[in-house]
Amino acid sequence: MVLEAVTRRQEAIASAVRERLLGPDAPVVALLDVEGIREAARELHAAFAGPAPVLHTFAVKAASLVPVLELLNAEGIGCEVASPGELELARAAGVPAGRTVFDSPAKTVPELRDALASGVAVNADNPQELARLDALVAEREAAGPRPGAPLGMRINPQVGTGSIGAMSTATATSKFGVALRDEGAEQWIVDSYLARPWLTRLHTHTGSQGVPLELMAESVRVVFELAERINRQAGRQQIDTVDIGGGLPVNFAGDETEPSFAAYADLLRHTVPGLFDGRYTIVTEFGRSLLAKQGFIAALVEYTKTAGGRRIAVTHAGAHVATRTAFAPGAWPLRVGAFDAEGAPKGTSEMVQDVAGPCCFAGDLVARETALPELEPGDVVALWDTGAYYFSTPFQYNSLPRPAVHGFRRDSAGRVSFSLVRPAQRIEEVLADSGAAQSGALTEALTGRADAPAGRAGEPHRFASSSAS
Ligand SMILES: *Cc1c(COP(=O)(O)O)cnc(C)c1O
Repeated sequence: MVLEAVTRRQEAIASAVRERLLGPDAPVVALLDVEGIREAARELHAAFAGPAPVLHTFAVKAASLVPVLELLNAEGIGCEVASPGELELARAAGVPAGRTVFDSPAKTVPELRDALASGVAVNADNPQELARLDALVAEREAAGPRPGAPLGMRINPQVGTGSIGAMSTATATSKFGVALRDEGAEQWIVDSYLARPWLTRLHTHTGSQGVPLELMAESVRVVFELAERINRQAGRQQIDTVDIGGGLPVNFAGDETEPSFAAYADLLRHTVPGLFDGRYTIVTEFGRSLLAKQGFIAALVEYTKTAGGRRIAVTHAGAHVATRTAFAPGAWPLRVGAFDAEGAPKGTSEMVQDVAGPCCFAGDLVARETALPELEPGDVVALWDTGAYYFSTPFQYNSLPRPAVHGFRRDSAGRVSFSLVRPAQRIEEVLADSGAAQSGALTEALTGRADAPAGRAGEPHRFASSSAS
């Protein structure tokens, strides 16, 4: 399976070069392995199969691309969303409200009202948000006794930190959820549920990259015990759904998928057997572990040089598509593949090189002092395992455009075909996103035209002198 995926990727690079999806007019491109995504979805379903009912959702922020959400939806995976934009992406992908979960830590009243009206599940992050839900549920009472959508509360089980502080959601002082171990918190949670029969879910998300599996499983165990306690005190199965979040880490050091969904599900079955006995519906929200290994960035090497004895390849893949790696290289190292100008793997002997991007700041490196076949201008570098949280969430530094994303498939005859997932951002779009239509907004004030309307796109430029009457 791993070998097949590696072969598919290599052939995709050669085909992308041949079809000029990657070339002087498109010096950086992102590629998604369609078969790889479907395999990952199937492995997830198999790992959690029965007897408990399971709803898998995909954390949209990990790959916010409508065709990807459509593909996952076709594989029976819904969406976890955390902003109005992400909710609209899920809707555009045809994901039903009943398969959508809304989890943002800063939901506004209009967002909450929209979620309730459309039946999207909501997990309240904190006591103030719960008070807002109280008001909205009361508002809806006229329409019927049901709140309109499944509602729950996000719990921070405060189990501790992983190796990357910025990625650890279940620390003592994390900004997410109701901190379970704070004084009086657990009793407050129990009382809140008992007073609100419409609260039927508990949610926790312990991750992400760098968090040990045992810690993730411990979080789920703690939240499951809380659900059992609430149900005991309610004298009925008030909580019918436990949302265990996502957070499964990804192996960025090699091609193997580890830990696997199966390994995590086995650990959970061992740590929290009651969760799987069929009394509860399980919701999952995996992001990185579903998509990271199914996508990569391919970029041209523009120049090579040396500085202070260091060899540097200047490429078109930098902080705009690999933001985390550029700003936190220790936490987010990437593997780099070296290919020649035809897209064939380079077999020449390795030497230590930096792989730099096109951005104008010194930290814009996607690999530091890495042994790779000697790179030359016109070669292609591949940044593996970047299918989640990389090119799909670009950073518009230096007004660099978002690269195109293409899905690829390989038929039984070995032919690779591509489907456009997201077009490259055009320079006109970069202009529009940079206030080009507001041209004059600041300078008109300087020339005594403070009351003049801002210029609109397409209008000829007006000089201050010509407008004096
Ligand atoms: C980001 C996020 C996820 C997905 O995390 P991954 O590490 O990508 O699996 C799931 N749930 C919530 C609430 C999140 O914020």
